[in-house]
Amino acid sequence: MQCLNCGGAFEWAGNGQYARCTRCLALFGNENGQLTPIVVQAPGGGNNPEFNAMFAQNLGFGPPPPQHNLGAGTFDAGGGQQLQVKINGKTPEGYLKDKASSMIWGWIIGAVIIGLLVLGGIGLAGYIYYQAKSPGGGAQTGAAATWDGKSTFECKGNDVVALTGVKANVSGTAIKASANCQLTLTGVDITAAVGIEASASAKVTMTGGSITATTNSVVATAAAKVDCVGTKVTGKSKASGAAKVTGAN
Ligand SMILES: [Zn+2]
Repeated sequence: MQCLNCGGAFEWAGNGQYARCTRCLALFGNENGQLTPIVVQAPGGGNNPEFNAMFAQNLGFGPPPPQHNLGAGTFDAGGGQQLQVKINGKTPEGYLKDKASSMIWGWIIGAVIIGLLVLGGIGLAGYIYYQAKSPGGGAQTGAAATWDGKSTFECKGNDVVALTGVKANVSGTAIKASANCQLTLTGVDITAAVGIEASASAKVTMTGGSITATTNSVVATAAAKVDCVGTKVTGKSKASGAAKVTGAN
């Protein structure tokens, strides 16, 4: 049999005549297995756990189980049941507050650690990005690029790019270098109408390889500089403004 109120276990008194729930302390009379709730009214009315305990003692029960009888801190179990509860020497409210504050501190510390990890990750990513983007940065000088050799390759902005061993055949202009870009070509063979078109402050250095151009091998404008070293050049080069072309006629 279980408590009709809370399903708690019973303790018995009066040769099985009376049952008391060990959980909620409800009292029941037992007649041939039929439980009848015993409603205890304290003198002056209302529910009084101490009077309930006295009443139960008169029926033959011992003192209420200790978890309900620790003094200090009143716990309302609902239904007017006033229980006296203490957990680890604290009132239930105090206990929950302490528990909650240690949990909150746990969360705060966890959040700070995660925050540091995230910041560390962002910092590292930023450092890598800076290394990749900064002019003269280690990762950037001569960064190897890929070129399919079928369409115009463009080097622009502050790009610092290296192409190696590409055999290109482009109908228009093979390579366009603009702005401050620095392009290094090594062992690249270009067949195109215009081999290299360099503008602004672009700097192209070609070592070995070949340019076979039907219109111009190199067209350099503004302050661009194109140097061909040991390159087999077919087709006329053209320089205007302060642009300079070496190694190609
Ligand atoms: Zn119960």
